[in-house]
Amino acid sequence: MELKKINKTALKKIFDDVEIESDSVIGSYLYRGFRIQISRYNSPVNERYMRLYKKRRELGICIRCGKKVTNKNSRTGKLYRLCEFHRSMTDKKK
Ligand SMILES: [Zn+2]
Repeated sequence: MELKKINKTALKKIFDDVEIESDSVIGSYLYRGFRIQISRYNSPVNERYMRLYKKRRELGICIRCGKKVTNKNSRTGKLYRLCEFHRSMTDKKK
């Protein structure tokens, strides 16, 4: 992660962002020779999930089961993120 050099104003902003639990605050900072790292306590799990999600999206496979998605969303022109089976399941829940 890139280390951002910050000043006192930025440091205060970081504390404010932590207070409102804004994800934009996550990062590594350098302040007067101190390294300040802000990260989510359970982030390794989330990051692993996000990586898997991104990878499956890139490959055009269902994010639930990994099956190849063949149908495109006519509105966006992009492949659906779910296979037919999981898409119909999700639709039913609504
Ligand atoms: Zn599926």
